[in-house]
Amino acid sequence: MFEQDIVNKFKNIPTPFYYYDVEVLKQTLQQVKAESDKYNFNVHYALKANANNEILNIIKTFNFGADCVSGNEVKKAVECGYASEHIVFAGVGKSDAEINFALDHNIFCFNCESLQELEVINELANAKNKTANVALRINPNVNANTHKYITTGLEENKFGINLWELESVVNALTGLKNIQLIGLHFHIGSQITDLSSFKSLCMRVNEIQSWFVSHKIKFENINVGGGLGVDYHEPDKNLIADFAAYFKLFNDFLELRPGQKVHFELGRAIVAQCGTLISKVLYIKKGVNTNFAILDAGMTELMRPALYQAYHKIENISKENKVNRQKTIDKNLKPNIQYPISNIFKYDVVGPICESSDCFGKAVNLPETFRGDLIAIRTAGAYGEVMSSGYNLRDRVKNFYSDKL
Ligand SMILES: *Cc1c(COP(=O)(O)O)cnc(C)c1O
Repeated sequence: MFEQDIVNKFKNIPTPFYYYDVEVLKQTLQQVKAESDKYNFNVHYALKANANNEILNIIKTFNFGADCVSGNEVKKAVECGYASEHIVFAGVGKSDAEINFALDHNIFCFNCESLQELEVINELANAKNKTANVALRINPNVNANTHKYITTGLEENKFGINLWELESVVNALTGLKNIQLIGLHFHIGSQITDLSSFKSLCMRVNEIQSWFVSHKIKFENINVGGGLGVDYHEPDKNLIADFAAYFKLFNDFLELRPGQKVHFELGRAIVAQCGTLISKVLYIKKGVNTNFAILDAGMTELMRPALYQAYHKIENISKENKVNRQKTIDKNLKPNIQYPISNIFKYDVVGPICESSDCFGKAVNLPETFRGDLIAIRTAGAYGEVMSSGYNLRDRVKNFYSDKL
């Protein structure tokens, strides 16, 4: 993926750092725009995937809204110039200060996760003489078939209002005078690659809508959340997720009432593939059954593998180009030679942090790797840099953009 001239530029930058390919981001956004516009769908970018100013500014130029899960994310969206009327705010534990901040900025919608939260928002809105727009976040009990730590739409999860609670919530709403019910909200999980999960969601949304219709309750908005997955195994083959199939599925299966608008909250599928964590090999260590490649990046820079055993493609970009070149030369000269297969070794690629879970990959195939080689950890644009920490008093990881390198 990385051309030699980029690798040469990387050599002059202190590692570890995040590298963002602005072209990949823009191409992805163009695709999202083109495919969602076909059906007049409204897309909100989920800030929690990556909240860097540069990224937010690029996304903003495509006129997407913002999906926030904390008061500071609402603040950031406002500061970056996202229009208040396109900001939605979800989260099971919104504090009074966060709710007040969002009320002051007249955001489009609170995605409410419990009856108690509705009562608190009503009270705080009343104190400001305002009416809060609210969508009920409903737990649809649909399995996203993804890792259990990023599943959110099952009854056992903490998110949303359960189906059996709907009746009492709806009854209580009539007494909440400073709440305006404007829609329903769903979000079943993340890194969903089997689109049939989204079809199940559509079916459930249709059932829930029928229930509301039978109770003579109408609303203008259906928000189906985010969660579209990306290809962590073959990033170069599938650099852009299949947005055409994704949006078409919702158009095909969601039953809308006249005038209803559909909203999406995409994070990972927008920013994952544009980001790479670049790191350097500090040491090679021979273990009992394996070799260790010890990097200068660890779980403090990219936590996903330690947090939910996530897979990231790992490449030795100091060697890959040379190996590929040699491969072609060898092929030309001696067509039978098995190069570079004989030159591939297995490494456990680990970080320097004092935790055994600080491991980016086990038994990773790499060309023979040495101290000083540059290692690229791919598909790291989403839930990478935003989750970086200062554990072990590490320096906060830096970032570079392809248009300013
Ligand atoms: C995290 C989150 C999203 C974005 O999920 P992705 O998998 O990154 O698309 C959308 N909506 C809500 C409510 C979220 O919490």
